[in-house]
Amino acid sequence: MFSTRHPIRLGRILGVPVEIAPTWILLTLLVLWSFWERYATGFGHRSTGVAVAMALVATVVFLGSVLLHEVGHALVGRMRGMRQAVITLYLFGGATNASDPAGPADEFLMTLAGPSVNLLLALGLWGVQVLATHGRIDAVAQVAGEAAWLNLLLGAFNLVPASPLDGGRILEAVVWRVTKSRPQAIRVGAAAGAGLGALLMSYGLLEMLLVRGGLIGGLWFGLIGYMLLEGARGERTRAWLEQVVRGRPARILLTEHAEPVTPDTSVGWLVGSEFVRHHVDAVPVEQNGETLGVVLAEDALGVPAGERFYRTAADVMRPLSEVPTARGDEDALDALHRLGDHPVLLLVDGHGRVHGAISRRQVGMALDRVGLAASAGITRLGR
Ligand SMILES: [Zn+2]
Repeated sequence: MFSTRHPIRLGRILGVPVEIAPTWILLTLLVLWSFWERYATGFGHRSTGVAVAMALVATVVFLGSVLLHEVGHALVGRMRGMRQAVITLYLFGGATNASDPAGPADEFLMTLAGPSVNLLLALGLWGVQVLATHGRIDAVAQVAGEAAWLNLLLGAFNLVPASPLDGGRILEAVVWRVTKSRPQAIRVGAAAGAGLGALLMSYGLLEMLLVRGGLIGGLWFGLIGYMLLEGARGERTRAWLEQVVRGRPARILLTEHAEPVTPDTSVGWLVGSEFVRHHVDAVPVEQNGETLGVVLAEDALGVPAGERFYRTAADVMRPLSEVPTARGDEDALDALHRLGDHPVLLLVDGHGRVHGAISRRQVGMALDRVGLAASAGITRLGR
């Protein structure tokens, strides 16, 4: 049904595209249910209608706060010249995907913007609570007061200096500024993230084992700790890429070369002589010197064997508009960012002519080679 690889596009907020991961729908239901249970059975037990209305408003305000946090990142990022900001909301919060910051000041300001939004929202919501208390609108006062506390918690938790939390990125910006080395800065943030993750997991385990009724609370701490540990591992990979790949040309990612074919080439021929015999993953499709798209091995092999000689490259190719491209002389790390979750990246020259198709498997091989060379002290490979 849904795949986490394919977020659903919601629309734009202040010009910034917003997507939700399918898991976010699960989060919405979970949050709604927790609020409802709290208002229906908790302090002051309200009537069902009032409890449902309060739970709906509280859910919208809470999830809206998470979204506005990301909008804060995206807007400041764009003001500082970072492009292609996209906000994706996941089961646990959100992420803003923009191009890399040019310097530590950009990273610092863009990161600080998110938690600042939550702290400002907390102030505003406390204002609402005071007004509603004054006007004796009890239900509004309660929802606003609790939403204010949640925003304070959200802002404060995100400011803890441990990557991949915002506080970790702020720490990285400071270390980057002081040491002038971004890889080193990322490693410092990742070490703090791994430390905090291990601490939270141990705490969660102790709570589950030693505290009566601490099973659910301990489980939450354990889960957050585990996610921090995983995030810190991702950060170490990011540091490695910054150190080893940054500054190299994108053409080092092309490890195998497949000659382009014409659109009327049969799928059977492609499978027999390219995908099976030469083990290539992707073949560009060209006509009269113009590139039309690319055929992936997985798409060609998906055609039933009996039909392969009746189907052509044009039938199964991915059109050029769906495939990201990179110039051979641009930074390999930028090209990798553009590849993202796509199965293939086309390498083009300055005139837009395609030089080759880079599959995810090839990227893995290229990075292995670059990594081996780096550990052997050869740092100028591919230059
Ligand atoms: Zn953030």
